[in-house]
Amino acid sequence: MRIDIITLFPEMFEPVLNSSIIGRAQKSGVLEIVCHQLRDYAFDKHRRVDDTPYGGGMGMLMKAEPIALCFEDICKQIGKRPHFVYMSPQGKTLKQQRLRELADVENICILCGHYEGVDQRLLDEFIDEEISIGDYVLTGGEIPAMVFADALSRMVPGVLSNNECFTEESHFNGLLEYPQYTKPSVWRGKEVPEVLMSGHHANIEKWRKEKSIEVTRLKRPEMLEEYDEK
Ligand code: SAM
Repeated sequence: MRIDIITLFPEMFEPVLNSSIIGRAQKSGVLEIVCHQLRDYAFDKHRRVDDTPYGGGMGMLMKAEPIALCFEDICKQIGKRPHFVYMSPQGKTLKQQRLRELADVENICILCGHYEGVDQRLLDEFIDEEISIGDYVLTGGEIPAMVFADALSRMVPGVLSNNECFTEESHFNGLLEYPQYTKPSVWRGKEVPEVLMSGHHANIEKWRKEKSIEVTRLKRPEMLEEYDEK
């Protein structure tokens, strides 16, 4: 998968997306993340990427043309039109299910808004999908884009060592994950549940499923209403 990110602050992405698991995946070639400085596409007299909103009001808006030029350049670079996502508090809240669907898309481009947002005409003409990371407003789309790119990248085959790493995790099947324990087997007088020490795989699996349902009921009861036991 290749992810292109259009932003006014490409330097924010470097430490996050070039280290740890995502950094390793990029080095191995299963994933490529390319950041584009939007200012490089501001070709008007003043090379401006923002301006005041028509009708008055607070703050500045991102202009349509630099974004359009940057996106068109990305299309040219990769030889096709990527799925174009705008990070926005007005978008659909990001869910694991949507990430599962998008993990199969070969090229995704993410637009990070700033200031008061983006000229509506650009959104109407170019954007395929608006995605929110929650019902609150951040100062810019960079942190949401990192959240989206990270969560998406780990679903791409080959990024994690084993698909089980995510298929067993919270949200993948509509449940939260069961509790987990590591060494020592007794910590400050607290023991690890006996079944996990038994080596009996069927019993361990059964225990984990029951605990998953119990934890979900306790922490996120509304998820159980939608959970379809297979
Ligand atoms: N005026 C906009 C509104 O009320 O809908 C909010 C603009 S916000 C201050 C600036 C940028 O941050 C947005 O263009 C968007 O890219 C990003 N952003 C803020 N909150 C977000 C969220 N919850 N999810 C995704 N992106 C968000």
